[in-house]
Amino acid sequence: MKLLLLGPVGSGKGTQATIISKKYNIPQISTGEIFRWNIQNETELGKLAKQYVNVGQLVPDSLTDKLVEDRLSKEDCKNGFILDGYPRNISQAQALNKYMELDKVILINLSEEEIIKRLSNRRMCKVCKQPTAIDWLVDGKCEKCGGEVYIRDDDKPEVIKVRLKTNSISDELINFYKTKGIFYSINATDDVNKNFELLDAILCK
Ligand code: AMP
Repeated sequence: MKLLLLGPVGSGKGTQATIISKKYNIPQISTGEIFRWNIQNETELGKLAKQYVNVGQLVPDSLTDKLVEDRLSKEDCKNGFILDGYPRNISQAQALNKYMELDKVILINLSEEEIIKRLSNRRMCKVCKQPTAIDWLVDGKCEKCGGEVYIRDDDKPEVIKVRLKTNSISDELINFYKTKGIFYSINATDDVNKNFELLDAILCK
């Protein structure tokens, strides 16, 4: 299964991609995660990406397209994968389409008001690397593993506003996949399990 999850920032697409990846035993390819890893580890890619990621701008297509093409050529992708956060615009979708046809594209819908609320409350765990939320912490630590948490640089309010503008999913991108007959969407709820049920129903079609 070659799957793309689309969703505005804070829609929970990363969390859902992780659940699907485990259930179907296919790798989750999250461009945001790859960029953050490279930034933290101060690689050459990280140094290039940092100037965009930390201010909420998209990393240039040329860099991102090449990164994903290299990743998808790896052995573990041959039975399928979940793309999370790529393609994010029509030019990335066209670049991908030159060498790969996707099976399904699912959009997770969320209102702008809800996005801002979720991102302002989001924290990341330094240990298990999973997102969590202020309300879920136990004694200020990750409720899943007890790890220390931090605020992503791009979850700060001034950067959230930029991300909402630059990262919005265009109608052009959606129409690109609609015309291929592989586009589906769900409305996100607050319940992670419920969202997974909605997605899984589409995956099983
Ligand atoms: P995310 O975790 O998906 O919200 O991505 C975090 C940041 O990584 C984005 O705000 C961009 O700066 C960068 N990024 C992730 N995916 C892409 C992409 N497909 N194209 C360009 N930049 C990206």
